[in-house]
Amino acid sequence: METRNLFAEAQKIIPGGVNSPVRAFRAVGGTPRFIREAAGSKIIDTEGREYIDYVASWGPMILGHSHPDVVAAIREAAGRGTSYGAPTEIEIEMARRIVDAFPSVEMVRMVSSGTEAAMTAIRLARGFTGRDRIIKFAGCYHGHADSLLVKAGSGVATLGIPGSPGIPPQLAELTITLPFNDSDAVQNAVARYGDELACIIVEPIAGNMGVVPPRPGFLETLRAATHQSGSLLIFDEVITGFRLAYGGWQNLAGLIPDLTCLGKIIGGGLPVGALGGRREIMETLAPTGPVYQAGTLSGNPIALSAGIATLDILRGKPYPALDAMASRLCSGMADLFRKKGLPFQINRIGSMFTLFFTAEEVVDFTTASRSDTERFARFFQGMLEAGIYLAPAQFEAGFLSFAHTGEDIARTLAACEKALKTL
Ligand SMILES: *Cc1c(COP(=O)(O)O)cnc(C)c1O
Repeated sequence: METRNLFAEAQKIIPGGVNSPVRAFRAVGGTPRFIREAAGSKIIDTEGREYIDYVASWGPMILGHSHPDVVAAIREAAGRGTSYGAPTEIEIEMARRIVDAFPSVEMVRMVSSGTEAAMTAIRLARGFTGRDRIIKFAGCYHGHADSLLVKAGSGVATLGIPGSPGIPPQLAELTITLPFNDSDAVQNAVARYGDELACIIVEPIAGNMGVVPPRPGFLETLRAATHQSGSLLIFDEVITGFRLAYGGWQNLAGLIPDLTCLGKIIGGGLPVGALGGRREIMETLAPTGPVYQAGTLSGNPIALSAGIATLDILRGKPYPALDAMASRLCSGMADLFRKKGLPFQINRIGSMFTLFFTAEEVVDFTTASRSDTERFARFFQGMLEAGIYLAPAQFEAGFLSFAHTGEDIARTLAACEKALKTL
């Protein structure tokens, strides 16, 4: 069926026609493409149009779509049953891989989404410290749990809503939101609320206001401030886990958070999340401790098979080559924008990048918000028309996969040159 008709049908029985808001193309206009299938770096819609994909299912598909080894692992696991609600050996295998890859992680609890991982992390931090307040950063997204959906970037920013009805103010009040990259604000808040503070949660590389790297010293300030106040430091590496290296940003930065949230890549495209950290904290979780958390499908054997297959392939993959491919794409786009004389910023770390339509350096949510979102929307439509599938909103990261080729980059740059003519 045609995309237009499918979208009309979907809107009759699914709110907004989508099961996750940013898929609805609200920020860019037009009709979202309904995807029929995907392989490697390409996705194909129901009308047979092919696109070079830089969304990568919002991060998980770092090996590209339908990697044959991952598909085989899923098939093989499905043949042995899809869920048992009892422990399995594969859960130990997954936990071992995460513990081996993350120096800060001694124990792991598997869940079914990044939202659950972050929600559990703050519950655990509150239960462990006996304190209620948390600090998060404007523009950082940690899933849609009540306490974390305050100035939460990504889809919330795209729709222009500060928070969400349905979250009691009494709960939202316990969330202190500070500007990303503002070490002074952190020190002031910790001085004021220190002994009430359960945790600071942060995306160590922000990806949900568009890509914004931490300034030198910012994450170190968080580490020192949490140590000093007896609160926990939570790194939400749902995007950055296995995206920039085999392991997380914490490995590259040489930092040891108390808790780490994972998701996306570790599920190989299936619904998976994980929470890990120091033994004494993790053992506060039920059944060893009093902080309750559970899940019917947690540690699901098919999802973990896809995740383990993905991690085992990633272990041998040349991340620097992936970074180089992303660098080629971004410097090519920068050249084209410069030639055209349009204001822009490209923030890139490894294979994640955002092209902001602003002249000013983007260091936090305020500077990201100054981007010209209308111009972004026109650019997005031009790229889509030319067969390039970018995230349909300014405040998102783009992702390359190991399946992207030099030819993909060349075609993307040619499309960019064409799209720029319409701006
Ligand atoms: C995607 C994301 C989440 C939420 O993960 P879901 O699987 O969508 O629930 C949490 N934190 C970060 C940093 C994310 O990018």
